[in-house]
Amino acid sequence: MANKIKIDDELVINDGEFTIIAGPCAVESEKQMESIGSFLSKMEVKIIRGGAFKPRTSPKSFQGLGIDGLKILKDIKDFYGFKVVSEIMDPRDIEKAYDYIDICQIGSRNMQNYSLLKEAGRIGKPILLKRGMSATLDEWMKASEYIKMEGNENIILCERGIRTFENYTRNTLDLMSVPIMKSKTNYPVIVDPSHGTGRRELILPATRAALVLGANGVIIEVHPQPDKALSDGAQSLNFEEFEVLLKEIRKLKGQMLIN
Ligand code: PEP
Ligand code: MN
Repeated sequence: MANKIKIDDELVINDGEFTIIAGPCAVESEKQMESIGSFLSKMEVKIIRGGAFKPRTSPKSFQGLGIDGLKILKDIKDFYGFKVVSEIMDPRDIEKAYDYIDICQIGSRNMQNYSLLKEAGRIGKPILLKRGMSATLDEWMKASEYIKMEGNENIILCERGIRTFENYTRNTLDLMSVPIMKSKTNYPVIVDPSHGTGRRELILPATRAALVLGANGVIIEVHPQPDKALSDGAQSLNFEEFEVLLKEIRKLKGQMLIN
């Protein structure tokens, strides 16, 4: 199914449209998710993100709420009618997560975890495959083949930046991968400006660039109080900032349609 992703007969990613996925880096509590869910529903965002299994650099950092986090996401999904995307790190959790999530995210650190890719190929749910932080485009493409070879072609590629010598930004957002991966694969390509830059002031310019380059959407971290977030606060937008971003992007999209 080229460049389109359907969930329960609903097209959630389609060529010519720009899908905005938003939510916190991590599911932290029911209260936090209720606040974000109610806000994003008002903003007419259809897909919510939230990590329950968090791949953290330090084992001492918050690791996520695990299955309890997925249960919170599911409650929010059922109440507001969102589709849900969440990262799975361990092949053994894929089956357990089945009833709670709509899109299974494979994170940057796991792009070359071949057992996980194969297991993801068997679940019959769309897979959001992030680019490895040191992966070439060819390696990323081959990682997607592991999923496809198990029978799952519902793959969304996500550019999230790569490691370079530049350290002003958290990663270097390699936006040229958008037109390249769109021409070399049949999969939709989205951009993660949050992890791609690590700085909230760069989320809007990066999102504009992604739209103009033909990306199928973006995935953005949003938190009611970014300074109190248990992970990735510096790259999370608060509600006001996210609302401004939505307005700006919808305006730019409108201008692109007119010209
Ligand atoms: C995330 O989306 O929260 C995440 C950890 O992203 P990445 O795998 O791109 O670092
Ligand atoms: Mn994050």
